[in-house]
Amino acid sequence: MSGIDAAHELKDAYTRERVSCNICGLDTNEAFLFYTPERLVQCRRCGLMYNNPRLDLESRKKIYAKDYFVIDQDDPGIDYKAYANYIEEEPLIIKSVTRRLKKIERYVPEKGLLLDVGCATGFSLIAAQQQGWAAEGIELSSFCVDYARSRNLAVYPGTLKDYPGKKESVSAVTMWDYLEHSPDPLSDLKECRDLLKPGGVVVLSTPDVNSWSYYLLKKNWIGFKNIDHLFFYSRKTLARLAELAGLRLECSFYHGRDVALSFFLSRVQYYVAFKPLLRVLEKIANNPGIQNVSFYMNPYDILNVILRKI
Ligand SMILES: [Zn+2]
Repeated sequence: MSGIDAAHELKDAYTRERVSCNICGLDTNEAFLFYTPERLVQCRRCGLMYNNPRLDLESRKKIYAKDYFVIDQDDPGIDYKAYANYIEEEPLIIKSVTRRLKKIERYVPEKGLLLDVGCATGFSLIAAQQQGWAAEGIELSSFCVDYARSRNLAVYPGTLKDYPGKKESVSAVTMWDYLEHSPDPLSDLKECRDLLKPGGVVVLSTPDVNSWSYYLLKKNWIGFKNIDHLFFYSRKTLARLAELAGLRLECSFYHGRDVALSFFLSRVQYYVAFKPLLRVLEKIANNPGIQNVSFYMNPYDILNVILRKI
């Protein structure tokens, strides 16, 4: 291990593990790209990008505790957060998922059972039910599972392997911003294939490394902001992964989401180096008057793909 790598290991309390390319299964044929600050590599053979070493299971479990989704913003003790307050975003999440579900309707043979993987607090299931689906979810965070169940939603704890549903019982599997968190995406897609009825689809969204924002921002890219993002995909690597799992990439498109203006401003601050402007943005973001303001934003860097069972 080089001196730079050793210093990198000391920077936080998390523990990490070495992994192979999830597509090729090779662990020696990777090129180091840069620190994000995680150590980012790319498989020389297939082009898949991933963190190596990456956060191990214990570290990821720590991250998905309650604080990941609900943050007391005055608590300085929390050093990692993905969402300002996920629960307060319920209307926006339902709005965004509804848009996506309407868009994919024509690709789905029937509105039967929809399984949402990594469903968090289950707001996506509410959206699916409103669109006429029977909806179930899987979620690793026990805080989220408890919350979803308190809302009478069918959410199972754990990962796809823990899902009790029968083979060939699901019409559509959705994975909104999930696959970049998965420690073994190939295995997940194979599980999906087994669960899908013939002709069923997996619909997923994930940040696209083959996008304008990646090439412009590189290590400051939004896809790297969460240290629990483990894999980074392009249309090409997703198609290859799907093929290995017995799924065919049928179409891809960019889809945005409904964003609270306050959240948007807080994210923009990552890219603002000019301090006076930063203070103005903070002031606007904290103004109670804009808390309910939202808009649809498509940054053309969140890849959505439809994978058909073959
Ligand atoms: Zn590879």
